[in-house]
Parts: sequence; structure tokens; C-alpha cells
Amino acid sequence: MTPITTFADRTVALFGLGGSGLATARALQAGGARVLAWDDSVESVARAHEAGIETADLRQVDWTGIAAFVLAPGVPLTHPAPHWTVGLAREAGVEIVGDIELFCRERAKSAPGSPFVAITGTNGKSTTTALISHILAQAGRDVQMGGNIGTAILSLEPPADTRVHVIEMSSFQIDLTPSLNPSVGVLLNVTPDHLDRHGTLEQYAAIKERLIQGADLAVVGIDDRPSREIAERRGERLVRVHVPRDATLSADALIVRDAAVLGPDGTRLADLAGLGALRGAHNWQNAAVAVAVARALGLEPAAIQAGLASFPGLPHRMEEVARRGAVLFVNDSKATNADSTEKALTAFRDIHWILGGKAKEGGIFPLVPYFERIAHAYLIGAASDAFAATLEGAVPYTRCEILEAAVPAAAAGAAASGAPEPVVLLSPACASYDQYRSFEQRGDHFRALVRGLADES
Ligand code: ADP
Repeated sequence: MTPITTFADRTVALFGLGGSGLATARALQAGGARVLAWDDSVESVARAHEAGIETADLRQVDWTGIAAFVLAPGVPLTHPAPHWTVGLAREAGVEIVGDIELFCRERAKSAPGSPFVAITGTNGKSTTTALISHILAQAGRDVQMGGNIGTAILSLEPPADTRVHVIEMSSFQIDLTPSLNPSVGVLLNVTPDHLDRHGTLEQYAAIKERLIQGADLAVVGIDDRPSREIAERRGERLVRVHVPRDATLSADALIVRDAAVLGPDGTRLADLAGLGALRGAHNWQNAAVAVAVARALGLEPAAIQAGLASFPGLPHRMEEVARRGAVLFVNDSKATNADSTEKALTAFRDIHWILGGKAKEGGIFPLVPYFERIAHAYLIGAASDAFAATLEGAVPYTRCEILEAAVPAAAAGAAASGAPEPVVLLSPACASYDQYRSFEQRGDHFRALVRGLADES
């Protein structure tokens, strides 16, 4: 845990008692603050109370005595509408911050020179955060990984000069961190997504830009227009990372060409060919960014290459689950829309594609250009009729309804196909809620079914 001492002997109000809220309350208490915590859920309040956290309905408290208000990142600060607590804090003139802000202030007080890598972007945050952490840990560094991925930041060990914090940040978290000043700030990309929760693309990009404005060194992916403009404005202490669609070289950027990461002068910095956990141009962006960060933190090229090569990848994102004979089984359950599934379809050929669930707007029409890569489709879930209509006449398909039927059918089809490396790919292009609680549960089920196949053989 990272005790927060910057509010010792003062009172802090806190709203949102999920995992990170509880961790924040404990960290503030450990540092000597009084915490008044609340949540709209009665169960969450009761759980916090049992855990020894003082709870108080924030409608009833006297805000004049409150030094700061900590808001959990899932609770709306601005869009679609500010949460009721935000209005109360503003009326009382109390500053509104998040847990990462508390971390930044503690770091400034106790270990201002400690390495702190903050990562944001519309896509690839978790993969890049995990990859950077993995490369550093493999090289023997003391690494603390958390934030928007996995562990709440204040549950991690405190900042120290020889300890690297690698922290994934959503836009909501950046919005709540006014003194964000990482030693390395990473912006992967900015594309229109979740705008319902951020207003316009300009507002959304401006929040992302704040992460690199405060950074000692900025690493920015320049493959989209908003990110390119952000890099332009940054100017110095900047590493640009470019994965060109064609072979054009961009000056002053770290680029990926022929599956290698090249420095601005053409030096070969890392090889990406044959890395099963980092397939596809999107992962090359993540990998090149990780290479830039690892170099900035002083790692040798051999250590960086070793870390890339041993990265296991994240579950549910083009995760290689098994190989049976020539057939590769890939779990891409995180692909809940056509955009994400497109990345998987471009990474493989001879695909036995398991898809379906609760369809998103537009269905699988955007994927028609990749149909020639698909040997056979296996439909599950509520979208079956709609998807069958799109596949009709272009791709042979089987209606399987459920994964228990789709996995053995796809495995048998792939094994019998005679292709050199057929792939059974779960990349549903759909939400999972018609049959599962979450994409994780769907992916876990797929993995278990594939392992079950292996037992039979
Ligand atoms: P995030 O944490 O930002 O949601 P993840 O690393 O979990 O991102 O990846 C989620 C999905 O986003 C992947 O399955 C892939 O489809 C897509 N993706 C990953 N990295 C990138 C990238 N650099 N650019 C575009 N899309 C990406």
C-alpha cells in the first residue's frame, strides 16, 4: 500500500466504494487523514463500514471542513452529467481529485525522482502497460503495475528511486489528476470512441493531451491526426512512434518497417517478426512504444528484445490458447465490435471463425473485405440471423447457437481442412451479454472447451 500523508490530520470526502475507492480510503487513513466515504449502493457502504472505514452520507456533511473530495474514476465528473456529489463539492469550493492525483502528490513529497510511466490512448492501453511492465521486470527492475489495469494505484508499493510505477490511465483518471507529471508519458492513439462520455473529439483529445503535457519525456504514437497534432504542439523531449501503412519514412520518428523497430537514423532497435503475442499492426504500435519507453529507462537492446520475445500477451486479446496438430486456437473474446475483430482477421488466414452474441450497430458489414480469409464461420448467440444474412453466399457457415457446439465443430473443420496452419478464432464482434456475464467469462469458457478437446485426444 502507498500511505497518503499529504492529508494527515485533515478530512477527505470520498465517493465510490469499489475496489479503488476502498484502497484510497485505507491509504488516506494509513497516512493519518480522516475519511468520510459514501456510495449510492447500500451494500458498498455497508462493506466499507465493516472494513473499518468511516461512512457518511455526503448530502448531510458539513463541506466547509473538507480538504479534498476524491471521486472514483467510474463516477461521472462531466459526461453525460456530473454526479450529485460533484455539485456539492463545487458549491463548497472543495477540489475534486482521483486516487492517481493523491499518488502524484505523495511521489512529489517522498520520491520526486522515482520513475513513473503513465500510459493512455483510445486502444492498446492494457497491452502496452503489461508489455512495458514485463520487459522491465524481465530485466530485473522492481516494477509496480496498476491503475486502470488490475490493481488500484494506492494498493501498490510506494514510489522509490529504484522502483518503476507503470500506470494505465483512462481519460476519466486523467481528468481527476491535475498535477499529473510522469517521468515518461505515453499517448498511443486518439480515435472517436466513448464520445458519449467525453463530449466532442476535441474535448476527448484535450484530456489525453494533458497526460503528456506534464511528462518529463513524451512518447506519442503519430498514426492518427489528433495524436499527430498533439506531438506537434509538444515539440521537445518527445519520441514519435510511427507504424506507416505504406513504406514512407517519417523523419524523427521511431518507425516499424518489415517487422522491425527502427530508430530515426535507421538503426535496428528490435525485431517483431514471429512474436505470437504481438501479431498485427496495432500490436506493432504497442511494441514500438514499449521499446521507446524501455530505452528511455536505460534498458539495453538485448534486454528489450528478450522481454518482447517472452511477453505472454494478455488474456482474451488474440490470446494463443493451444495448438493441436497444425491447428492454432485463438481467444479474442475482448473483440466486442467489428473494429476489434478486424484486427484479428487481418492477422490470420484459413480462419475457422466463431462469432456472434449481442450485435453492435453495423453488425459485421465492415468485415466483408476480409471474408476471403475465412474458411468457415460458426455462429453463436442472438446475432445469428443477422450475421447469417451477411455471410450468405460469401462464406460457408454453421449455426451452432452455443460455444459447446461451435468449438468442436470449428476444431474438426480446421483439422480436416488440410491448410498448413488453420486457426480456430473466437473473435465475436459482439457483446457477450446475451449468453455471458462478461467477455472474460466468454473467453474463459472458450479456453476451457479447447482444453477439454485436448483431453479427449
Ligand atoms: P485498452 O486497454 O485500451 O482497451 P487493450 O490492450 O486491452 O486496450 O486492447 C483491446 C483491443 O484493442 C485489442 O483486442 C485490439 O483489438 C485493439 N488494440 C490494441 N492495441 C491497439 C492499438 N495500438 N491500436 C488500435 N487498436 C488496438
